[in-house]
Amino acid sequence: MHELSIAQSLLAIVQDESKKHGVSQVTRVHVRIGTLSAIVPEALTFSFEVISERTVAEGAALDIEVVSARGRCDDCNIDFKIDTTLFLCPQCGGIASEIISGKELEITHIEAE
Ligand SMILES: [Zn+2]
Repeated sequence: MHELSIAQSLLAIVQDESKKHGVSQVTRVHVRIGTLSAIVPEALTFSFEVISERTVAEGAALDIEVVSARGRCDDCNIDFKIDTTLFLCPQCGGIASEIISGKELEITHIEAE
């Protein structure tokens, strides 16, 4: 379950930012997660809840925005949604030249009191 280590990195960022801004209680953390990051949102929420106990983020809600994976085919010059782990262009059947999105794992916004 790699969600725990991811929750730990998220918490480290939240603690860092809170210190920087003199925040004593974080209420909400917004994160963006790409479908290719293979993170289960529920597992991440649970892990974050557990490890944030007795920290500045105790009781803070984790708002997770899931970003769909998209690939690009340079031959056909199109973007397409990736549904599976096969990154094939729907037009020519070739492998995506580039993964445009889906690997996101970032904090976009932290709310605090
Ligand atoms: Zn193509």
